[in-house]
Amino acid sequence: MNHFAVVLVLIFSFFSGLLYAQNPIIENAINDISGNSIFTYIADLQEMNRVSQPDAQTEDLSASIYLLDKLAIMKNNGGIDSIMVHHYQDTFHNPNIVAVKEGCLHPDSVLLIGAHYDAAVAFAGADDNASGVGALLEILYAIENIEPTKTIYFTFFTAEEAGLIGSTAFANSPSVGNLDIESVMSLDGIAHKAAVSDDFTVIINDSNDANSSNLANSIRDASSIYVTDLNQFLLSELSSLEQAFLQDAVSDHTPFQNNSIPGVHIIEGLGAEQLSNYHTAGDTIGFGPNNSANSPDLVEKIAKICAAYLLETAGVCNTTSAIDFDDSDSIFTVEIHPNPISNELNIICESNDVYFEIYAPSGKKLLTTSEKTINLDEYPQGVYFLRAINKARTLYRTIKFFKT
Ligand SMILES: [Zn+2]
Repeated sequence: MNHFAVVLVLIFSFFSGLLYAQNPIIENAINDISGNSIFTYIADLQEMNRVSQPDAQTEDLSASIYLLDKLAIMKNNGGIDSIMVHHYQDTFHNPNIVAVKEGCLHPDSVLLIGAHYDAAVAFAGADDNASGVGALLEILYAIENIEPTKTIYFTFFTAEEAGLIGSTAFANSPSVGNLDIESVMSLDGIAHKAAVSDDFTVIINDSNDANSSNLANSIRDASSIYVTDLNQFLLSELSSLEQAFLQDAVSDHTPFQNNSIPGVHIIEGLGAEQLSNYHTAGDTIGFGPNNSANSPDLVEKIAKICAAYLLETAGVCNTTSAIDFDDSDSIFTVEIHPNPISNELNIICESNDVYFEIYAPSGKKLLTTSEKTINLDEYPQGVYFLRAINKARTLYRTIKFFKT
């Protein structure tokens, strides 16, 4: 590289640094993502028979029940706004499952991240694709106190191995057709570190489609300030051998691409030992390069990349971390009485076009309601925050109170 090129690179680095400054809210959430946690979900899922069978008698529903149980708890804790269960045909019984984090400013704009939870072989599929499913769960836990400005769909697809049946039905369903989906990321095979690669590598398969290539670049840009020690390659940057293997590879982003929605497949760098376990009973969890799901570090970094892209692109609303609420500019008049409160919280607010949230000091949202009288009998003694929000989400008022 000559001096002129070095100067150009420095100038470029300076400006790309300006484009994305680290957001502490996003950084905190991303730091919560743990590869070891993801491996516990992989361990759970590989014990389940996840082969999609077009036969109600033989299809095992354990994995969808497992996911729905976890998501129901998240919803009760306020970490997600709703759960959509998409049954799409009579033959396959496991549904597509969507955990929705609704956008607080632009609910109609949707970013979709997905992973298929079925497997090609019974009691296996650790890398393909319990790893992607585990990453989605872990991201959801990490961002449960964050409200994105745009809506995010965390989509658990079924029947991918049977020929993208779940994602095709979902992408082509009328209600999804009416959504403004900005981008789709399919996480499929992200926990294997190849023995041949010196470093961690993630490949973003943009399928040589212009819109998808732009998306791939956006993911790399948005994530590069949060995850610096991971090589991210676009398909076009790979060796011809890897390109040949991957360019016809399809995953759950493909049906969306077919509908002109930018989509990418996020996958680990390829190694011979991983390919030898691909779609066999050998795709199990383990450590060391010869096992299929062998790297909590890699899956953690890939999950962080995805979370960084989602939150940078969606943006985050007034933080739901109650201790950080700053309503100093607000002209919204809300009062409560009594304070301290023994059982009943009464809210005085002239507007009826308003709703209320209660937060623990940790920032965890405990309740959303439009009632102006709230019974707190069940709440343990301690400090809480009431947050009043007008329905246009332009006015906020946060009041600290003590429950006796
Ligand atoms: Zn797969």
